[in-house]
Amino acid sequence: MKRNLLLTPGPTQLPAPVCEALGRPIIHHRTPQFQAILKEAVDGLKHIFQTKNDVLILTSSGTGGMEAAVCNLLSPKDQAITVDGGKFGERWTELCQAYGVDAKVLKIKWGQAPTAAQIKQILDEEKNIKAVFVTLVETSTGVTTDIKAIGEVVKKTNAVLVVDAISGLGAVDLQTDNWGVDVVVAGSQKGLMLPPGLAFVSVSSKAWALMEKSTNPKYYFNLKEAKKAAEKTDTPFTPAIGIVIALNESIKLMKAAGLEKLFSHYARLAKGTRAAAQALGLSLLAEDSCISNAVTPINLPVGIDGEKLAKIMRDTHGITVAGGQDAVKGKIIRISHMGCLDEYDMLTGIACLEKVLHEMGHKFQLGAGVAAAQKFFNTK
Ligand SMILES: *Cc1c(COP(=O)(O)O)cnc(C)c1O
Repeated sequence: MKRNLLLTPGPTQLPAPVCEALGRPIIHHRTPQFQAILKEAVDGLKHIFQTKNDVLILTSSGTGGMEAAVCNLLSPKDQAITVDGGKFGERWTELCQAYGVDAKVLKIKWGQAPTAAQIKQILDEEKNIKAVFVTLVETSTGVTTDIKAIGEVVKKTNAVLVVDAISGLGAVDLQTDNWGVDVVVAGSQKGLMLPPGLAFVSVSSKAWALMEKSTNPKYYFNLKEAKKAAEKTDTPFTPAIGIVIALNESIKLMKAAGLEKLFSHYARLAKGTRAAAQALGLSLLAEDSCISNAVTPINLPVGIDGEKLAKIMRDTHGITVAGGQDAVKGKIIRISHMGCLDEYDMLTGIACLEKVLHEMGHKFQLGAGVAAAQKFFNTK
């Protein structure tokens, strides 16, 4: 019997009470019982999102929430800013293009984060920008964006700020209301420690006002319909009932831990993992100033095939890490800290990484990564 340790940035490792809730018999959704569950879920999500805005629950993967943001906010030929610095920023551009939106793409190097000054420059030059789309944690590069600084810039304009927080919500800080974020999109299978299947979208009054003007076609992802149903503690379509029930378990755990504590827990796991990488002679893809505490992107030595490394870790040892995407495919691995994980899970992953790197011919002192992480965990 092999273990199945998920050190991947979605899906993530589930807590036992979430697994237990997922095993319960199904109930019907048009019932007072489910309405009570739905209400608890929405209230809990507002806490995690740090918002008083509406939070809508959609049944889809995270990308459905992103599509909802684009097709509800904008109309064909509207202008928007997107960031090309990783796979998921690129997704905002592709979604805009699919809906005929004129995306002004800010191109940045993989491993860097867009700055507020860069966003401000485009907003100053283009007077008709309706929306700015950014990514909290660019999972493909392990970068966290300074949303607070970008919020300062965008809130002084007519544009709305839309944040893909699918990766990172619950693991790194995102103060939706304090930072002036109009729309936040999240998904169930990352920081919220659930199976995939739910997307969450928070909407500010500034964003609702823009939605009134949108002429793009929409049906399943019509957020006005979702809001109308939510006002009656209902959903327009059959929700993923079981995952909503399990969501209340994960929210309970997150509330009991406290958001601040959770953020510092994940920061600690990330820093220990970075110390291990350094001790193994490996550099990181993301720059120090913006490296994420949700996922650590490790550059591999020349000649070590990252796809093969990840496959051996998974198939031989039952420990799953993510490989690289696009330009860095085969060149990096990504170790996630999100999910129900602690320092011993990190040490297990690092030990396995060492074993396979050693077998593949990378030269280093066996145990050096584990020792560096242990030292960090036991002194910090
Ligand atoms: C995982 C992820 C998504 C995509 O979510 P799906 O649930 O696969 O649709 C979008 N953005 C970011 C930053 C992600 O990490």
